[in-house]
Amino acid sequence: MIVRLSHLLLAALLFISTAHAEERKMCTAPASECEKAIRELSSGRRYLGVKIKELEPGIIVETVIDEGPAARADLRVGDRLMSVNGHSIVKGSIKDFKQILYSAKDTGVLWIIVLRQGILKKVDVRLEPYTKAQIDKMVAQHLAQAHGISSINAAAPQQ
Ligand SMILES: [Zn+2]
Repeated sequence: MIVRLSHLLLAALLFISTAHAEERKMCTAPASECEKAIRELSSGRRYLGVKIKELEPGIIVETVIDEGPAARADLRVGDRLMSVNGHSIVKGSIKDFKQILYSAKDTGVLWIIVLRQGILKKVDVRLEPYTKAQIDKMVAQHLAQAHGISSINAAAPQQ
């Protein structure tokens, strides 16, 4: 259970998703327990607001969530991540990136070097806490995807 919750925490903390479809796995824990855990773990947590893609090797920004911390910091779609907080991730994986983000969870501060149209740029990002609406959405998504429960509060229909 602890292991599963830490995965939830990581997903919640980062608010990123990857091309790997591991979130399709069905969850064996009671839905109410999951909801409680997601709410507890995400409340007060900070997020970045991007989706990233692994290039094998390397990482590129695939989507920047509107109004999120990354958008405010002017991180852009197509930016290739070169280093984060001094750790080179030129040949890094999404897992490496998550680890760096996780280690920055207390300060919430990231300085990222990106390669954008052949030019290196420094982007300073401050991670921000989730809003209640975002947490509600994460709960609804988890219940729909891992428990097959569609909530009347779900923002968007599941595909
Ligand atoms: Zn669950």
